[in-house]
Amino acid sequence: MKSQKITVIGSINMDIVTKSSIIPKVGETVMGDSFFTIPGGKGANQAVAAARLGADVTLIGCVGEDAFGKELTEHLGKQGIMIDNVKPVTHSSTGIASITLSDGDNSIIVVPGANYEVTPEVVKEHEHIIEESDVVLLQLEIPLESVIEAVNLAKKHHKTVILNPAPIQPLPKELLQQVDYLTPNEHEQQLLLSANDLIDEELEQIKTKCIVTQGSKGVTIYKNEEKLISGFKVEAIDTTGAGDSFNGALAVSLSNGASLEDACQFANAVGALSVTKLGAQSGMPTIQEVEAFLS
Ligand code: ATP
Repeated sequence: MKSQKITVIGSINMDIVTKSSIIPKVGETVMGDSFFTIPGGKGANQAVAAARLGADVTLIGCVGEDAFGKELTEHLGKQGIMIDNVKPVTHSSTGIASITLSDGDNSIIVVPGANYEVTPEVVKEHEHIIEESDVVLLQLEIPLESVIEAVNLAKKHHKTVILNPAPIQPLPKELLQQVDYLTPNEHEQQLLLSANDLIDEELEQIKTKCIVTQGSKGVTIYKNEEKLISGFKVEAIDTTGAGDSFNGALAVSLSNGASLEDACQFANAVGALSVTKLGAQSGMPTIQEVEAFLS
């Protein structure tokens, strides 16, 4: 059954992965072992997580008018995500993360490309979609001013807003005060709450919105009092995308009217299941898999 409407405004990337036993020195060419591409980007990942759980998901974002843009858009459509608002742009390439894996170490170059074409104007053009949503889910891989515009529009229409503050960066306190839920991991929470222009009262108010993800431990919430919602014990194979799975699931559960505690428990289950399989998007469970796990 398709449920409430979730709008994700965020990044769409192709991860380009090269495996090599030798890391080239400057100016050197070496032979690599293997090469593959994997769909990613926090916006796309969280949209996939929510869609797998049966939600009605719209993704607002930009890709380049290039082969990766076409491939990613088609891929997201096949996941059941509404892709009419994924806009191809001519003057930027599709966002990529170029990842080199070598003996367990990795080095990564991210080129945001078209993700930075998700301007406040683009967000504003989609006000009608925000207005029709139940939950708006955001991350920080598009320009900050666009996130601010999205939150302003969502709150104008009294929508629930979840902001996953990753990758972490200094955020204006007005933004933190407006959103309903913040989902940092422990490291991100520390940086978030160390913004020096916050007076104690503001800090406390913002803290109550935090749902702090803590890997296998689960999450801590601060709504009424500090409370750990314990995670599920699973055999972790690949933790990539656990945070994105958690956020997508949280949005789905809250949009279905669950209490914060119940939504965190559900999202913990989804996060746990996601780490039992390889890959970020490919490891995200369906609603049937989550129901079977929880029964
Ligand atoms: P990433 O950036 O790798 O996606 P993150 O730091 O944003 O991760 P985590 O706190 O690692 O997020 O994980 C998010 C949630 O996923 C956790 O709160 C938990 O519910 C679940 N989770 C993650 N790792 C495990 C694990 N090893 N076992 C069980 N659940 C896990």
